Amino acid sequence: MAMRLSRSIVGKAEADAVARIIIEDGYLGMGKEVQCLEEDIAAYLGVPASRLAAVNTGTAALTLAVDATAPGTFGKGVRGSVLVPSLTFVASFQAVTAAGCRPIACEVLPETGTIDLDDAKKRLQEDTFAIMPVHYASNPWGVDEEYAFAREHGLRVIEDAAHAFGCKHDGKRIGSFGDVVCFSFDGIKNITCGEGGLVVAFDEKEAKIIQDARLLSVNKDTEARFCGGRTWDPSVMRQGWRFHMSNIMAAIGRVQLSRFENEFVPTRKHLAQLYRDCLADVPLVRFLASDARDDIVPHIQPVRVLDGHMPRVRQALLDAGIPVGVHYKPNHLLAYFHDENAAPLPATEALFGELMTLPLHPGLSDQDVQDVCAALKAACENL
Ligand SMILES: *Cc1c(COP(=O)(O)O)cnc(C)c1O
Repeated sequence: MAMRLSRSIVGKAEADAVARIIIEDGYLGMGKEVQCLEEDIAAYLGVPASRLAAVNTGTAALTLAVDATAPGTFGKGVRGSVLVPSLTFVASFQAVTAAGCRPIACEVLPETGTIDLDDAKKRLQEDTFAIMPVHYASNPWGVDEEYAFAREHGLRVIEDAAHAFGCKHDGKRIGSFGDVVCFSFDGIKNITCGEGGLVVAFDEKEAKIIQDARLLSVNKDTEARFCGGRTWDPSVMRQGWRFHMSNIMAAIGRVQLSRFENEFVPTRKHLAQLYRDCLADVPLVRFLASDARDDIVPHIQPVRVLDGHMPRVRQALLDAGIPVGVHYKPNHLLAYFHDENAAPLPATEALFGELMTLPLHPGLSDQDVQDVCAALKAACENL
C-alpha cells in the first residue's frame, strides 16, 4: 500500500465496539456510551466529568467554547474579537465567526509556529475578549505565558488543543488546567471517534452552557439523555446547535483511549525521534523547537526547509511517491478572513514558505521513516 501522510489506526476492537452499540444496545444517539467516554477522559485528564462536553467535531468544540465565553448575544451583531495565530487549520477561524465573533490573525514565532504574544499585544482591540492559542504540532510552547498574557489583558483563553491530546506541560496534562480546552477526535488525530471533539471548561457556568448548547440549548437535556430519556417540556434561553456526539462515535473513542498510552503514544514519539535522528546532519532541514519541560505526543511532523528550497524539495518528495502536507496556509491569506486594514504578517508568511509536513502516524514502520529521510536528503543534495 502507498505510504500515507496520516491515517486512522482502527481495527477489530473498534468494529466490535460499534457492533455492540448497534446490535446489543440499539441506541445510536447521545446516551450512556457518551457519558462513559466523558468519564473515561475525565479520569485520564484528572478533571471532574461535569466539566466535559463530548461533541461531534473539534470545530464544534471550538465554536461552543467561543460562544460560551463571548459577551453579547448570538445573532445580535459582532460580539467581540478573538486573537488567533494565523498559522492554523481554518477550523479555528471558522469557529470564531460561527459563534458570531471576529478573529484577529496574529503572527507566529518562526521557531515553533505558535502565537507570538508581542505581536498579539499590538493587535488587541477594545472588544477583544479571548485568545485562542493553537498547540501547533502538539507543542504547548508558551502556554504559561499565554495565560499570563490573558490575565494581564482581561481575556479568556480558549486552547485549540486539537493536536495536543495526551501532551503535558511541566508534568500537567493539556486539558487538566486552564480556562477552556478543545480537542479534536477526527479520523487522523491522536485518538479518533470517527469524527469527534471535546471541550473541557473549567468554569462551572461555562461548562453548563456548553453541555446544553451542544443539544440545541435545551436546559438539562444532557442529564436526561444520559439516563436514557429526553426533555419533553424544554426550556431554551439561548442559541444552540446539534453538536452532540453519538454513542457510535463514543464507542470508537473509548477503545482508542484504551490503546492510546501503550500503543499510539510510544509509536508516535518513536517515529518523531527517528526523523530527528535521521535528519540531524541535513543542513537545510530544521525541526521546530520545543521546551524541555514539555512532553509532546506528536500529531504531525512539520519540518522547515531553509533558504527558499522548500517548494523544490517538496516536489522532489512528491515525485518520489512520498506524500507531503502543508500545515497550514495562513488564514489571513484566505479571502473570507483577509483583513486589508490589518498590519502585515511577514513572519508567518516566511514560515509558511519553509514548512512542509512529513508522513507521521502509528501505522508507519521505521523503514518508512528511513525511506522518507533518504529521499529528503537526496532532494537536498540534488538542488
Ligand atoms: C483538526 C483541527 C481542528 C478541528 O477539528 P475537527 O475535529 O477536524 O473539526 C481545529 N484546529 C486544529 C489546529 C486542527 O488540527
